[in-house]
Amino acid sequence: MDCLFCKIIAGEIPCTKVYEDDTVLAFLDIHPVNIGHTLVIPKSHHVNLYDTEDATLAHMMTVTKKLSIAIKKAVGADGINIAMNNESPAEQMIFHTHIQIVPRFLGDGYVCWRGPRDYNEGEADEVAQKIKDSL
Ligand SMILES: [Zn+2]
Repeated sequence: MDCLFCKIIAGEIPCTKVYEDDTVLAFLDIHPVNIGHTLVIPKSHHVNLYDTEDATLAHMMTVTKKLSIAIKKAVGADGINIAMNNESPAEQMIFHTHIQIVPRFLGDGYVCWRGPRDYNEGEADEVAQKIKDSL
């Protein structure tokens, strides 16, 4: 399979590992937003959030919490963003599920999730209802 992250898991491509257990691997992003930027991936191949088993996702988040606290301490970060890009329009570039732990520093200049969009009158209720209807 031509998957970069599967090759990292198989040891065919090196990574700077920070955590590993039977289910997940975590390593430093090679193009970090800030030092300590870490990716948490399942060892089994899944494309993204939608096809990853609930138990695996739950474990990924448990590891993400543990690592976030350690990373914040290790690099002296002022805060942490947790991100997960799913599909190309959401800027997913490697099609193997991954959670990103992004350390943030006061005044680091990185801007995320600053949307230009507001809800029109009544639109939020409509959208919320559509989401509930889709569950
Ligand atoms: Zn993969």
